[in-house]
Amino acid sequence: MADAVGKAVADISEQLKPFADSMRRIAADPLVQAEVRRRQVMRALGLPVPSGCHCSCAVAHPNTKVCDGEPVTTTSRHFEPFGAVQVPTCAPCAAEVMAQTQ
Ligand SMILES: [Zn+2]
Ligand SMILES: [Zn+2]
Repeated sequence: MADAVGKAVADISEQLKPFADSMRRIAADPLVQAEVRRRQVMRALGLPVPSGCHCSCAVAHPNTKVCDGEPVTTTSRHFEPFGAVQVPTCAPCAAEVMAQTQ
C-alpha cells in the first residue's frame, strides 16, 4: 500500500517535471525580467506602478476578469501589422489564454 502511494507520488512528480521546467524557462524570459525590473524601479521611486500584464484582457479573455497585474510569463499575441508578438502576461491571464486556445 505504502509502496503504491510512493509510486503514485513519483509518477506525478515525473509528469509535472516538464511543466516545472517550462515554467522556469519562461520566468527567465528577458521580456518578463525587463517588465519585473521596470515595476521594481517604479515602486522604489514611489511612482504608481502600472499593470505589468500586457495581455489586453478585454480582447484576450473578455469573459473573465482574473488579471493580477504581475507579469510572470509571456503569451503570443497577434497584432496587425506585426504578426505574432510576445507580451508580458500574469499567471491567471496566461492560464485563461491557454484555456481559450485549446
Ligand atoms: Zn488578461
Ligand atoms: Zn493579467
